[in-house]
Amino acid sequence: MSENSQTFIAKSAIKTADLEHRRKINFNIGKYNAKVPEGKEQFADVHLVRERAKNIKWRAIETLDQQLEEFEMQFSKRGGKVIWAEDAAQAIAEVVKICKEKNCTSLVKSKSMVTEEIHLNKALEENGIDSVETDLGEYIQQLDGEAPYHIVTPAMHKSKEDVAKLFNEKLGTPINFTPQQLTLKAREILREKYVQAQVGVTGANFIISDIGGIAVTENEGNARLSCAFPKTHIVIVGIEKMIPSVTDLGLFWPLLSTFGTGQKVTVYNTIVTGPKQANENDGPEEMYVILLDNGRTNILKNPKQRESLYCIRCGACLNACPIYKNIGGHAYGATYSGPIGSVITPHLQGMESYKHLSYASSLCGNCTEVCAVKINLHELLLENRKESVEEGLVTFSEKMAWKIWKIASMRRGMMNLGNGNLKNKVVNGLFKGWAEHRSELNFSKKTFNEMWKERYKK
Ligand code: SF4
Repeated sequence: MSENSQTFIAKSAIKTADLEHRRKINFNIGKYNAKVPEGKEQFADVHLVRERAKNIKWRAIETLDQQLEEFEMQFSKRGGKVIWAEDAAQAIAEVVKICKEKNCTSLVKSKSMVTEEIHLNKALEENGIDSVETDLGEYIQQLDGEAPYHIVTPAMHKSKEDVAKLFNEKLGTPINFTPQQLTLKAREILREKYVQAQVGVTGANFIISDIGGIAVTENEGNARLSCAFPKTHIVIVGIEKMIPSVTDLGLFWPLLSTFGTGQKVTVYNTIVTGPKQANENDGPEEMYVILLDNGRTNILKNPKQRESLYCIRCGACLNACPIYKNIGGHAYGATYSGPIGSVITPHLQGMESYKHLSYASSLCGNCTEVCAVKINLHELLLENRKESVEEGLVTFSEKMAWKIWKIASMRRGMMNLGNGNLKNKVVNGLFKGWAEHRSELNFSKKTFNEMWKERYKK
């Protein structure tokens, strides 16, 4: 069992027994569940919309090389610079290089899971650059020294009392501050930061190939401020975020907001196509887009797993997952949690270290049912399990157990040996680890043959 797997089991066991944690996330997911049906009402046929979105993403991913080149050509025409990063180290090196060229000591950052994936804040800190999260949820998490808990709502596991306590400890605000007062305090601090920052970093919800732009969706306006105030804007984005045309946003913007938060459309939707032009007053003087691979082409070359690249990170599968709702986002020990995280993390960070996440599923299929772009998530989890076996990532005892099971189950005579009690004793003795986290295997008292004979005697 890998170290990550042991940590996962230990953390999950703690969180599952933590009823207060469960109460908080069920409360927040309950609010989400109440809102989503309202958002879906805007679509005449929500299944057709999901199907169309899947088809568009299919086209984008099948022609990804051409789409990326088209994006680079269009974006460069308006003075933007494209940087291709194969892995996290290259992306970080490029950001640090740009920051040093600009004598940057202060940087503002909007919510971006990809910057979590490459651990950008840590790298910036090591280089003496103060990086401040400007999304309120991310700001709360940064103050608390915690990673985001959820890909859409980073502080979902915190109640308003938890946030008031945190602000009291870190910022000295009164402990009885209301959510409005806490938000105003955060805003007061963050407004200063936008003015001071030399560089702004954002992610992108979509890369738009035909116009050479990026689209950012948010509810607080902080991403707009992060890209417009500082003189340099750096976008870091995974290559799979591609959509072929700006007209596709007519479908993807409402789809993302409905499946992400239940809103019909998110409050701020921005398209950025380059730095400030000669005839423009606002915007950064320089703009870079770092196109990050970091394992995504491993997924691209796998015909079965490829569809996981269609993900628009709406978070719906996390909110629907019975495992996520019990163990929470941090137990996964990965940037991307929930069903989609369990599918992609073994391919992004190594099958051996993360294959255990593919077993963190009841395979109920609820994730597939709610996915905005109809990714067959539960089948991909099974596929991961299969691939890990094909790669030989199973213990000797597990291999032997299945071998014996196969031999026995293919011979009726062996299956009929002994009664249910004897089988329970032998099998539960062999699979000792099984019952550590589950009930014991329980065989029927009578064999299939015995039951069959009894049935036809009547
Ligand atoms: S896999 Fe589907 S449901 Fe889950 S985050 Fe991605 S698009 Fe949303």
